[in-house]
Amino acid sequence: MGETTRATDGPGGGARALAEAVRGPVLLAGDEGFDAECANFQTSVPHRPRLVVGAACEEDVRLAVAFAAERGMKAAVQGTGHGPGTPADGGLLITTRRMAEVGIDPHRRTARIQAGARWGAVARAAAEHGLAALSGSAPHVGAVGYLLGAGLPLLGRTFGWAADRVRSVRAVTADGRLRTLTPADDPDLLRGLLGGRGGLAAVTEVETGLVELEGIFGGGLYYGAADPAAAFGAYVDWTRDLPPEMNSSAAVVPVPDAPGVPEAIAGRTVMHVRIAYTGPAERGRGLVERLDAGAVLMGALREMPACESGSVHAEPDTPVAWFGDTAVVRDLPGEALGALGRAVAPGPGGPVIAEVRHMGGALAGAGQAMAGHRGAAYFANVLTMPGGKVDPGAAGRVREAAAALGPWSLGRLPTFLPSGESSTPEVVRSAYTDEDVALLRRLKAEHDPSDVFAFGHRVD
Ligand SMILES: Cc1cc2nc3c(=O)[nH]c(=O)nc-3n(C[C@H](O)[C@H](O)[C@H](O)COP(=O)(O)OP(=O)(O)OC[C@H]3O[C@@H](n4cnc5c(N)ncnc54)[C@H](O)[C@@H]3O)c2cc1C
Repeated sequence: MGETTRATDGPGGGARALAEAVRGPVLLAGDEGFDAECANFQTSVPHRPRLVVGAACEEDVRLAVAFAAERGMKAAVQGTGHGPGTPADGGLLITTRRMAEVGIDPHRRTARIQAGARWGAVARAAAEHGLAALSGSAPHVGAVGYLLGAGLPLLGRTFGWAADRVRSVRAVTADGRLRTLTPADDPDLLRGLLGGRGGLAAVTEVETGLVELEGIFGGGLYYGAADPAAAFGAYVDWTRDLPPEMNSSAAVVPVPDAPGVPEAIAGRTVMHVRIAYTGPAERGRGLVERLDAGAVLMGALREMPACESGSVHAEPDTPVAWFGDTAVVRDLPGEALGALGRAVAPGPGGPVIAEVRHMGGALAGAGQAMAGHRGAAYFANVLTMPGGKVDPGAAGRVREAAAALGPWSLGRLPTFLPSGESSTPEVVRSAYTDEDVALLRRLKAEHDPSDVFAFGHRVD
């Protein structure tokens, strides 16, 4: 039985019966632990549901979805809260952090990942068998939430989109049924889930393919970027003829002159170049030496086990607020680099960061997941400096930069859609091809006609 205290009638009418049926906690607003249960990593888009169910097992998820559907309530699922869509205000929020088991099948080279597990845990478990997970830049991101956005891996140019390797998904649909979906039996619904970001079902578990890889050569190098457009230009020029084994990105960051910041970069605008090379270290080192971005101020490259690849981007793991917008682009000519440079120049509202990830390679291949724009050459990500709150002036500069990339933009990526009120249907549709938008609409009508899964990133 769940550990609910005040889950009686009232705003969450019937919640007591649900609390008695499920193993995890069922909490109403005002209950002790309610706010912590709902908290997102992205703190600027908080969920304020009527009721939160801390699912401890698949049956808890099934009961919670059935509860919402029977009462005409709207439901949302929260993994680790790194990319909420519309906040689940007034609805039923299912949190999955207690469902964090990871199982590796070394013979099939797969990982079975429960809905609340983070990539770091998957990577560590896979490494015990000489295998690597196709995680993104941050090991603290939820593996399932990432796969439901198709997943752009750190090693994407070498191995392609993470969700193309998914073998099966276990999910509870709006009719309260727990199903196992496979590429052979349910290709359409599977595609809608692997990119559609959870608007169709509550996913309880995913089985996905791992890759045979013991280690990578990589790390982060910091260069001066007093002229951010020129620094990005040097990076983009360098990427032009790289082999698919070379995975990289560059972020231009106005680094504060604050206590604890290394002297070499404090108070300077720097370009952080992140390298994850899957070939022999010496060849990787030779390729990086061709990057003509000036002297390295700080950082080093090294051979490392694949499960330490989170150190390449070294993303902070404390919950923060930010506003970001993105574009996947065909190219980044000088004018586009100028727009990114203007975004990070000092301006109203405080610092803004811009990042460019090199795409292409295996990311351009076809696959089962709804990855959107597979033909893109680069992914550009502009965001306010993560911190306590989002300044509207800085958010405005982010919007301007994203709009200025319009002429080269193919759209956005499902995993990097903006959160909260900026996640309008028009913005969400930009992450998909017209065929995939039509498929998402058809699947919604077929599998969730009453719109139980109403929150998240909606195409309508
Ligand atoms: C620091 C950082 C680094 C990142 N790096 C990368 C990267 O390198 N590559 C990349 O592709 N993405 C990256 N992302 C984006 C990230 O993959 C997405 O935001 C992803 O959706 C996060 O999943 P989550 O479970 O943490 O988020 P949540 O906010 O909990 O969920 C995100 C969305 O998925 C839905 N969802 C989550 N779990 C379920 C479920 N079990 N069933 C149904 N729906 C569900 C939610 O309803 C919500 O709409 C990064 C994000 C951050 C903050």
